[in-house]
Amino acid sequence: MPRVSQRFDVLAAARYASPTNGDAMHRVDLEEIFGENLFGLHEMKSRLPKPQYQALLSTVRTGTELDPSVADAVAVAMKEWAMERGATHYTHWFQPLTGLTAEKHDSFLVPVGDGRAVTEFSGKELVRGEPDASSFPSGGLRATFEARGYTAWDPTSPAFLMEGPGGAYLCIPTAFASWTGEALDKKTPLLRSIHALDEQTRRALRLFGTPDKPVRATLGPEQEFFLIDEEFYYRRPDLMTSGRTLFGAKPPKGQEMEDHYFGSIPERVLEYMNEVELDLYKLGVPVKTRHNEVAPGQYEMAPIYEDANQAADHQQLMMSTLRRVARKYGLVCLMHEKPFFGVNGSGKHLNWSFGTEDANLLEPGDTPHDNMQFLFFSSAVLKAVTKHQDLLRASIAHAGNDHRLGANEAPPAIISAFVGDQLQDIFEQIEKAGEATSSKASGLLGLGVKSLPDLPKDAGDRNRTSPFAFTGNKWEFRALGSSQSVSFPATVLNTIVAESIDGLCDSLEKALDAGTPFDDALRTLLAQEIHGFKHIMFNGDNYTEEWVTEAERRGLLNLRNTMDALPYLVDDKNAAIFEKYGVLTKRELESRFEIYVEQYFNSVNIEGETAAGMARTMILPAANRYLSELLGTVAQAGALGVKVEGVAHTARELAELINELVSKLGELVAQNAELGGDSVLEKADHVRRNVIPAMVGVRSVVDRLEKVVPDDLWPIPSYREMLFVK
Ligand code: ADP
Ligand code: MG
Repeated sequence: MPRVSQRFDVLAAARYASPTNGDAMHRVDLEEIFGENLFGLHEMKSRLPKPQYQALLSTVRTGTELDPSVADAVAVAMKEWAMERGATHYTHWFQPLTGLTAEKHDSFLVPVGDGRAVTEFSGKELVRGEPDASSFPSGGLRATFEARGYTAWDPTSPAFLMEGPGGAYLCIPTAFASWTGEALDKKTPLLRSIHALDEQTRRALRLFGTPDKPVRATLGPEQEFFLIDEEFYYRRPDLMTSGRTLFGAKPPKGQEMEDHYFGSIPERVLEYMNEVELDLYKLGVPVKTRHNEVAPGQYEMAPIYEDANQAADHQQLMMSTLRRVARKYGLVCLMHEKPFFGVNGSGKHLNWSFGTEDANLLEPGDTPHDNMQFLFFSSAVLKAVTKHQDLLRASIAHAGNDHRLGANEAPPAIISAFVGDQLQDIFEQIEKAGEATSSKASGLLGLGVKSLPDLPKDAGDRNRTSPFAFTGNKWEFRALGSSQSVSFPATVLNTIVAESIDGLCDSLEKALDAGTPFDDALRTLLAQEIHGFKHIMFNGDNYTEEWVTEAERRGLLNLRNTMDALPYLVDDKNAAIFEKYGVLTKRELESRFEIYVEQYFNSVNIEGETAAGMARTMILPAANRYLSELLGTVAQAGALGVKVEGVAHTARELAELINELVSKLGELVAQNAELGGDSVLEKADHVRRNVIPAMVGVRSVVDRLEKVVPDDLWPIPSYREMLFVK
């Protein structure tokens, strides 16, 4: 009888010898290599004629329109720079609605007709590309008869050089739109939202008499992920098709011992991280921290914050680099939100703020109670979050994230805001007395050991359970899924806060026009506004049942599932706000809605098919083999008169499990065959209501079988193996 040989793969995996190019990193000069593969402002300054550089700088800094002659000059310099570094091709790099990045390479080569060729790259080629790329999701925006798709150079995010095994190529960040000018990507609305936030914030700054400088949104995403050995990965069809395990019994040891979290990073992983970081440094991505996360096999990396547009590009680069480099170390990087059931999942914390070049507008200072400008902007954020809980929730809704939200490892699906004791107290003072006269002091830590320094304490403690938390001088949106692009959540934040500031400015201006002195008008306004948003503030434990009840009492939304949340995207209130601030037209918004619903359907549908296939062709045969072995023993023993009641008992137990599996599998197969309707929405609803429960049913039997069927017959690597071989 054939035995599965996986058990020996554990050894093969554990014995993996990593390539010893670790040396490269040990001798690295960080300052020297940082930005080496980036065509940033510094590089442009040294290569462009002064007037062209100044024109470009003004576009980058203040968003002014770019003269075509500047594009020509930039193209020449860019090509020269890239070719000096071995580039043969260029690509317009863009972010279609798949959530990934896309590129189509063009050579710099132009034949001259006499058997020779020259290299060329013009301003026209830099500025506009026509990749066609008609197979990307467009949500009905592109019919095949008008299938042209264009990419447009985004000068505010610098070009960079990707080094591959066979050579290098130049990547030019671009926006991607249809022939009719509708956005087909994640970057375009993000840029539009950054503009809206800039406009409204500057208007507020002018009212405050603060120098009116360009305002930028800033993002700092923290990325969690799993690493497993590829020996295991390729033996798990579920991981290969859906990025998560559809079966797998919880190992006896999980994260209970907390011996992995912040532990010393395993050597192979450390070497891998070093190479990831080296690549990212070269691209100018400011990766700053790395550590082991809560679950075994789970890690986190985070860059320092940057301008939102660049940070979003860099986040995509970070995800693709993490995935790509892993393979060199015999590892696979799992970016899915919940690769392992019963084990901590992966999220992405999006740190978000906004400010001018020299001032973060969410910096409270030492006495926040009399920092009226800070209180104004903080109120604007809280007002926005209250009004648009649905949009924030929808911006993080996708099939993978449904496994985490509300599962006591990530914030619940209820959007609320943690403001910390200090800010809460200030808002309460304003509510009661119309103004705040003191700020709760933060003080010193006092560790009680003279030789240890007296550390200054932060004004508020952390709250790890809140979906949206004020953490000192920025907001941290903690409900993002690990695999998702940060662009849409950031777009939503920028847009709703722009709207909020807009409204507050209107009220202020009205009061000023009526002759109210600025300080009085502002104080009155803030005292009024608190009534509208105080119920969104929650500093307690978001993981408890009591909070769910309390949130319901407060009238907060609790949209548990992607399919509950997505429809909110396109309701009138939300279509209106996107339209008003020029971020997404109704058609663009509706196309996105359709794409997200379709992605949900596809994800679950693939999982359903994969689960059925694995159960039928891998699990059931393994269980049957074992049963036949047991029955053989019973028959032979009977013939000899040997008593094997224990074996017979095991056989009966096993047979029952097999019967149960066959019946559950039948149900799943039937649900997979159903469509639920003709529209995407109906299909998505069907997989949510029927396929997911059927999958859960199959899984529950399979996971019990895993504990019964002999280890050497079990056809797929176990959680223990995948999580603990490092
Ligand atoms: P932690 O959340 O682990 O305490 P930090 O306070 O160091 O970490 O910051 C976490 C992330 O927040 C980092 O990526 C950091 O760059 C980012 N961050 C800090 N300030 C800002 C800001 N003004 N805007 C956006 N992100 C910020
Ligand atoms: Mg954090």
